[in-house]
Amino acid sequence: MGQVKYVFVTGGVTSSLGKGIISASLGKLLVARGLRVTIQKFDPYINIDPGTLNPYEHGECYVTEDGAETDLDLGHYERFLAANTSQKNNVTTGRIYNNVITKEREGVYLGKTVQVIPHITDEIKRSFLALGQNGDYDVIITEIGGSVGDIESLPFIEAIRQTKWDLGHENCIVIHLTLIPYLKAVGELKTKPTQHSVKKLLESGIQPDILVCRSERPINNDIKKKLALFCNVPIHSVISSIDARTIYDVPLLMRKEKLDERVLELSNIPIGEEPGLENWKEFLGRLKNPTKEVNIALVGKYVELHDAYKSIAESFIHAGAKNECKVNVSWVSSESLITENVEELLGGHDGVLIAPGFGERGIEGKIAASKYVREHKIPFFGICLGLQVAVIEFGRNVLGYKNAASTEINPKTKDPIIDLMETQKKITKKGGTMRLGAYPCKLKKRTKVYELYKTEDITERHRHRYEFNNDYLERFESKGMIAVGINPDSNLVEIMELKDHPWFVGTQFHPELKSRVIEPHPLFVGFIKAAIDYASEKEKD
Ligand code: GLN
Repeated sequence: MGQVKYVFVTGGVTSSLGKGIISASLGKLLVARGLRVTIQKFDPYINIDPGTLNPYEHGECYVTEDGAETDLDLGHYERFLAANTSQKNNVTTGRIYNNVITKEREGVYLGKTVQVIPHITDEIKRSFLALGQNGDYDVIITEIGGSVGDIESLPFIEAIRQTKWDLGHENCIVIHLTLIPYLKAVGELKTKPTQHSVKKLLESGIQPDILVCRSERPINNDIKKKLALFCNVPIHSVISSIDARTIYDVPLLMRKEKLDERVLELSNIPIGEEPGLENWKEFLGRLKNPTKEVNIALVGKYVELHDAYKSIAESFIHAGAKNECKVNVSWVSSESLITENVEELLGGHDGVLIAPGFGERGIEGKIAASKYVREHKIPFFGICLGLQVAVIEFGRNVLGYKNAASTEINPKTKDPIIDLMETQKKITKKGGTMRLGAYPCKLKKRTKVYELYKTEDITERHRHRYEFNNDYLERFESKGMIAVGINPDSNLVEIMELKDHPWFVGTQFHPELKSRVIEPHPLFVGFIKAAIDYASEKEKD
C-alpha cells in the first residue's frame, strides 16, 4: 500500500470512556486483516513524559523497548497488537513545546514571532506523521488524550483539522468516542451530550466520520438514526459500544458493529476477507471457562488505584487464561502490613506478588510479606522493588546482616545490599534518567526461570536506579538465593531464585511490560502454575 492512512480517535462528554481500548481494538482488527498498524497517543499535559508523575495522578508509567516512559494506554496497544511501540508513539504537550522552544533557541525561526498557530500546530502535525515516514505502516491510529472542549486539547484538535485538509479526507479520518447516558427516571438513553460534543468538534472545523457510542444499554436503531441526523454521519457510521465483560471482548464487539469495515471504506482500502481472530477467540474461550481458581495477593503502596499496576493485572489475566485458571487478585496495601497481621492478610492466598515502587513508604510491610512467604513456602513473585525487598529480607533474617537495606531508603546503612548503580551516581536530574528500557540477560540452565523461558538469552525492560550489590552475592548463593539471570555486559543481577522453595522468583526488570494477550509472559505463566499447584496441595491436606 502506498499512502499511509491516519485515523484519529477523540473523546467527548466525559473522560475515561476507553479511547485506548477502542483504539487498540480497531488496531487489532486491522492487523487481523493483514494491515501493518501502529497506535500512538498524544497527551495534552505539560510534563515531557509521565515518568515524573505519581501513579495516583496518571496510573502506571509504561516503559517501551527503547526506554521511553509513556502513558499506560501504550501497554494496551502492545498487548492487543503483540507489537512494540517506542518513544515516537507517545507525545505530550510538554514535548511539543520543548521541541519548539529548543528550535527557537537554535534560531530555526529567526525573525519570526513563535506562536501556537502555526509553530506549535506544525510541530504537532510533524509528530502525528513521524511514524509514517519510513513505509513501516499502512494505518496509524492516533488517540488524543483528554476530551474535546478542554482548553489544553485545542492545539491538537486544530492540528487534526489541518492534517485532514493536508492529506485529504480519504487519508485521514476522525472517530469520535462519546457517552450515551441512560436516565433511569425516564427509562431513556440520551443523545444530547453527544450532539453537544459533536457541535464542539464542528466549531473547531472537524466533522467526525464515525461515532462510537459508549452506553450501559444497547443503542437501538431509532437512537442511531437520531444521532446520525443531528451529527451529520451516515447511520452505519454510528457504532454502539456497550459495556463489555472484559476489555478483551471489545475487538469482537467492534467487529460485530463493523467498525473496521467503516474505517476501511472511508479510507478507500479494499475490505477483503474476514479478519483472522482464531487465536483471540481461543484466548477468550479459555479466559471465560476456567477449570480452576487461585487467590493472589498483590502487595503494593498504590493499591487503591488499580491502574497503578495495570500491566501486572493484565499479565495475570493472560497467564490465568493460559492455565485455564481464574486469578482472583486481592490488593493489599503494603503500609497496612506488619509482622503481627501478615498471616491474617496474606495467609489465605496461593501466591503473593510484591509490586515495584519507590521510596520508603510501605517498605517494611513488603519486607514482612517477603519473610512470611519465604518461610511458609507460598509462591512468590517480586518485581523490581519486590526483588529488592526479598533480598533485603533474606540478608537480614537468613544471613544475619541486621542493617541490610537499600541505600534508596537508608543511604548510610552498614550493609548496602541494594545500592545505587554506578551509572546513576552522577545523575541529579529526575526526568528520564533511570536505567530504562530493554537490556539483555543471560539465564542459568537448570533453574525454574530457564525451564519457563526455554532459552538462555532474553531481553527485558527496566525502570530503576538501584541494583543488587554484587559484593554480597557469594554469601547469598551459599545459602540458596541464587542469581539465575545476569546482564552479560554489566554483570548486574537481573533475577534471583530461591532454592528449596516451590516458587520464589524476583526480577530486577519488569516482565509485566512484555506480556501479550496471545503471548503471555512465561514468568507469569509459571507463577500462576505454581499457585495452582500450591492450592491443590492445600486442598489435599
Ligand atoms: N526504587 C527502586 C529502584 O529505583 C525500584 C524501582 C521499581 O520498582 N521500578 O531501583
